[in-house]
Amino acid sequence: MSSKLPQNQKFNSETVKNTNAFCKKSNTKIVELSLSNEQVIEIWALQRKGKTSSIIEKLEDYGYHSKEAKTIANHFNFEIDTCHSCNYNQLEGAYIDCPKCGAFNYNLNFKPLFDQYFCRNLEYSLDFEQLDREDLKTYWCDKVDLPKDIKSLSKTRIEKERTIKTKAWIGNGIHGEYDMIIKLGDQFISAYKRGLNLLDSIPVRGEKDNWIKIDTVRRKIEIELK
Ligand SMILES: [Zn+2]
Ligand SMILES: [Zn+2]
Repeated sequence: MSSKLPQNQKFNSETVKNTNAFCKKSNTKIVELSLSNEQVIEIWALQRKGKTSSIIEKLEDYGYHSKEAKTIANHFNFEIDTCHSCNYNQLEGAYIDCPKCGAFNYNLNFKPLFDQYFCRNLEYSLDFEQLDREDLKTYWCDKVDLPKDIKSLSKTRIEKERTIKTKAWIGNGIHGEYDMIIKLGDQFISAYKRGLNLLDSIPVRGEKDNWIKIDTVRRKIEIELK
């Protein structure tokens, strides 16, 4: 289960620029959007849940009028390369008119590298057999969540805190929720900052001793990436 899938590295920009645009399809003026890195991550997290109403509320929190917020939310695309209006799926870049239907797409052009894909790879790599503990022989990790505090994935905080706190599901059939602390090494931090592949920061078997520490009684797991 340790095979690593290819990672799409195309979309790593954390920057969103201002724009004045016009949606030819709905005949709407598109208001300027100016979000900080952390705000982009929050919007991204809401997009993942597919909740336009929550995005509108969040944009209102950021200071956009409700009408503006609605227009903005209606022009976000939920998949980074797919038009919100016609599902054309080869959009390239942010703030773009769909070449097929003409609709404007904000396209946050953002996808944190620590995403579900990375979590899945991490989950596969948590091989408790290597700990050589009888009580863990039949244990496996079923899922690593994205952190609840999604803003902790901003580059600034990753660099400052060098830790990601999240939850994982671990057990031997009856899986329980564990508090997971992921300590980030230099390789991870450097790759994260530069938008490069993070998978190499997960130790392979035999490469790093004691990178997995687990307490099944208190349901805590701490792992150390390279
Ligand atoms: Zn439109
Ligand atoms: Zn379109």
